Amino acid sequence: MRRRVPATTEVLGDPRLQAAAARLGRSIVKDAVRGALDRARTGELLADQVPQAVLAELPATAASLQRVLNATGVVVHTNLGRAPLSAAAVAAVQEAAGATNVEFDLATGQRARRGDGARNALAAAVPEAEDVHVVNNGAAALALATAALAAGREVVVARGEMVEIGDGFRIPELLESAGARLREVGTTNRVHLADYAAALSPATGFVLKVHPSNFVVRGFTATTTVAELADLAVPIVYDIGSGLLRPHPRLPEEPDIASALRAGADLVTTSGDKLLGGPQCGLLLGRAAVVGPARRHPLARALRTDKLTLAALEATLRGPLPPVAAALATDPATLAQRAERITAELAAGGVDAEPVPTAAAVGGGGAPGVQLSSAAVSLPSALATRLRAGMPPVVGRVERGRLLLDVIAIDPGDDDTLVDAVRAAAKD
Ligand SMILES: *Cc1c(COP(=O)(O)O)cnc(C)c1O
Repeated sequence: MRRRVPATTEVLGDPRLQAAAARLGRSIVKDAVRGALDRARTGELLADQVPQAVLAELPATAASLQRVLNATGVVVHTNLGRAPLSAAAVAAVQEAAGATNVEFDLATGQRARRGDGARNALAAAVPEAEDVHVVNNGAAALALATAALAAGREVVVARGEMVEIGDGFRIPELLESAGARLREVGTTNRVHLADYAAALSPATGFVLKVHPSNFVVRGFTATTTVAELADLAVPIVYDIGSGLLRPHPRLPEEPDIASALRAGADLVTTSGDKLLGGPQCGLLLGRAAVVGPARRHPLARALRTDKLTLAALEATLRGPLPPVAAALATDPATLAQRAERITAELAAGGVDAEPVPTAAAVGGGGAPGVQLSSAAVSLPSALATRLRAGMPPVVGRVERGRLLLDVIAIDPGDDDTLVDAVRAAAKD
């Protein structure tokens, strides 16, 4: 039998739901009310529980992207948005969200060059670069460099560096789509300076070196360094991928922008999130004679960054240590203590939890094969689904029948939120 339930408009009249509609828009609240009323009709809910049920399930914002606790042990998790922004970057985004002086000089009242703040911050962070330019993402940086320096010409690249960067996208196809022809040199495992030298011709646009940021080749291998390539009489472009500004003690194999430029690269292209820890964007840094033409190329307009990205990038570069760098700087003993404290709180509430040491990873950001000593809370694997459905959702990883919640990529300020989330999931 169908139960008598109130009309949608009647429920929407609840002052709490009116306030929610003012915040989220009427359609989101209305859809939630309809869903709850359907459940009331089947007897799953009592009619007077409908407003409360709607309030409990309304999203935090009018967008479907929601905050997630990254307990995967992968610091830069591609599917979870790569680098989390620093509080300084979030505040900068908030400030720039309305009308803002992105292209306006407040002193003179005249139009100003767009994004000077971010550009100056980047130039200050990498004094080795004569000029810098910011675009939408790392792939855009490489596409723009190719269009500006090698359209209708050849890009010389090692076979072992013809990388697929993820989601089916491949560097060689990107270069071709930007109008260049590929000139492959070397073999899968080995390439020498002589291979590059033999491939050069008047048709050469540039020599490209790509950092294999998501795999490692071991065994009988040979690569050619930027310092060696720099002797060739053509521009050297180095796609380093990760955005690392300078060498990192925990990631000795990972290339960085400053070292690449000092070694003689004419242009470095990279993402601005990953290990740099900012918003996703793409950076071009290097000689003025190379960056300038890229900035002035017509495609630059199509790859232009928006004000929110510029604000976040500048604040990342000028502000305190962003979360990715902070996670990499935390010593394993501190991570172990956090896992122990979280476990103790959960165990006191009767949850089957124990602290375990783990090997965490940098992830999509680079440093393939590097294991970071970390720590996790080990839980029954049945909690995985319930934790993902929680608010905020928690994403861990299942290993040998246990759910591991690794603390390395969790902001220490969220440890108590994590405890609450596990308690709630264990209670259901
Ligand atoms: C990640 C990466 C890219 C692509 O950068 P996006 O910001 O994802 O577009 C290109 N090259 C390398 C070597 C990378 O690691």
